[in-house]
Order: sequence, then structure tokens, then C-alpha cells
Amino acid sequence: MYPLLRFNKQQILENTQTVVRAAAEKNIGVTGITKCTGGNYEIAETLLAGGVTALGDSRVQNLVTLADLDCPKWLIRMPMLSEVEETVLYATLSLNSELKTVQALDTAAARHHRKHEVLVMVDLGDLREGYFSEESFCADMAEMLKLKNIDIRGIGANLSCTGAIVPTVETYERFDDFQTLLKKRFGLDCAITSGGASSTYFMVEDGTIPSCINNLRIGELILIGNDTSNNMRYENLHDDNFILDVEIIEIKDKPSMPIGKIGCDAYGCTPVFEDRGIRKRAICALGKQDTTMEDLTPLDANLEIIASSSDHLIVDITECSRDYQIGDIVSFRCNYVSALHASTSEYIYKSAF
Ligand SMILES: *Cc1c(COP(=O)(O)O)cnc(C)c1O
Repeated sequence: MYPLLRFNKQQILENTQTVVRAAAEKNIGVTGITKCTGGNYEIAETLLAGGVTALGDSRVQNLVTLADLDCPKWLIRMPMLSEVEETVLYATLSLNSELKTVQALDTAAARHHRKHEVLVMVDLGDLREGYFSEESFCADMAEMLKLKNIDIRGIGANLSCTGAIVPTVETYERFDDFQTLLKKRFGLDCAITSGGASSTYFMVEDGTIPSCINNLRIGELILIGNDTSNNMRYENLHDDNFILDVEIIEIKDKPSMPIGKIGCDAYGCTPVFEDRGIRKRAICALGKQDTTMEDLTPLDANLEIIASSSDHLIVDITECSRDYQIGDIVSFRCNYVSALHASTSEYIYKSAF
């Protein structure tokens, strides 16, 4: 059945091993982040087989899917107050930046007779989650350390997201400062210092990674073989692990310019067309509600995406050497964004290859 998202388990395994091995040389453990796969069980197993020390996802529902995998599980988006119950049940550890939430986690943990681990997030300037001021960090930390069912395991930081701040040695000086502060004020040694995601990995490769980091939370680099934030491709990693197969439902020769007065399309945009004469066009059964078209790369280099609507993807096959027929399958390589959308779409079938 189509559309079908195929993921290459062997290549994902090799990527995991490559990244885990390089990180281990710098005494860094890798938490494998599954959110781009919608918490896919087989991919999570593959990451574990490749040597990640924990799994992480931003959605607690995905951790529910992974419940019977025997490993530490991290909820990497701060829990909502309304999901603290599920958080203590399905996550070993969560990333947090609000005292009120950590107190609610403590209460929920007590109710279920468990302990819950917490990494306290600090903001190094990217301005997404985490404590920015050292005073409020220390004030809340004093309260968090009193909680009986909460185990503060260390601190974490996130970069390259909302502020698109690229990690540098200087950026991490503040990460080190927060650790020194914890030691001085509370005598606390951080067991886990989780300094970033895929975008920090280049510092592992070039040897500049500061010693105040002993964990990275890595998704894109392993799954897609790419570091979008730094626009880096890694020659030693596979980048064609997610392939989307779609089926052709119409093939016709048509003009490249629409006929009549151009208004707005179904999405309120005015499309622009180039007159290239009569072209051979195929409609594939895939649409904007399945994934983002601009993030797909055709495996047939002569095939060109020309338009899409909610449920139709139109491609130009005039230059293709393959003689496409109705019912034939066209394949696209996914980047992080299209893999993310396709993985979470209920309309897309998934399988390993
Ligand atoms: C998504 C996310 C990651 C993983 O990011 P990649 O770029 O896929 O490696 C790590 N940490 C947090 C908090 C995240 O939200």
C-alpha cells in the first residue's frame, strides 16, 4: 500500500555506531532522539543496537510506544503540567525548567511509588527553553533539591533552535559556569551534562568539544546523516535512510501554463508558472497533508516536482528516461522535515528495508 515510507535499518545502525564511537572517544554518551520518526519502535531498537545509552522523544505518547524497550527514556520537551502522570510512568528522566512542574512531577512520582530523574535546562543564548538568570536557577534549584521523589541528575542546554545560535567553545563557558555554581552553592556534581544536539557534534569531530559536556542528544545526524543548523554533510554517514514511495494516478501531456485568469490557489497563494510548452505530467497520490513537498528529493534526477495541493503531487516526467505508467512508483529521499511529517502521518504506511 502507498504512500509508503521506507527506512533503512542497516544504514541507521551504521550511522549510530559511527556517531556513538566518535562520541565515546571524548567520553560522551549519546541519547538517541526518536521524535523525527514518531517514536518508531524498530528505529528505536536500531538506535539501541548501535550503542545509544538512552532514548529520547519530545512527545510522551511516543515514549508510551517504546515502553517495553529496556533502557532509560528521556522526555526532551518540558512536560506539560497536564501530563506529569504519564511522564513519571513512561519517562525515566525529563528535561525541566519550571519549579512548579518539577514539584508536580514529585507529587505524581510519590503517587506511583517511583523516583523521577530531572535534567535542569539552562539557556546559553539560543532563547528557547532553560534558566537564563543564575539567581532564579539557584533559587529554584534549592527547592528542587528538597523534593524526595526527584533525582536531579544534572543540567542540559539546547542550541541551534529558535535563535539558531551555533555552538562554540565560548558558548559553552556559561554551561561550565552553571556547573561550577551548582558545585559551589549546593555541593552538587552533575552526573549528566547534556550540552546539545546534532549541531554540537562537529565539535566532537574537530576535537574542540569542551570537557564540561558528557552527553549529546542526537536525532537528525544519525537518522538523516545531516546537520542542518551548520549546513554540514558528513561523508562517513548515510543520508538516504528515509525513502518515500508514491503511486502515479494520472499521466497526461498538458501545457505548462494554466489557461485563464490566475487567482489564488487552495492555500491563498498566487502561483507563478514558466511557459515551457507542452509537458508530460504525472499526478502522484500524495499531498500537503502527508508531508512537505519542498523537502522531498526525487531519486530519478530527471523528474521534477512542479506543484502540489492537499492530496495531489504533480511532477514533470518529460525528461525521464524511464517510461512511467499509471500505477508505477516514484521514490523520494526525505530530509529531516519531510521524514518528520511523513512519519507522523496516519495516511502513510511505514516499513523497514
Ligand atoms: C529535537 C531535540 C534534540 C535533537 O535534535 P537533533 O537536531 O535532531 O539532533 C535534542 N534536544 C532537544 C531538547 C530537542 O528538542
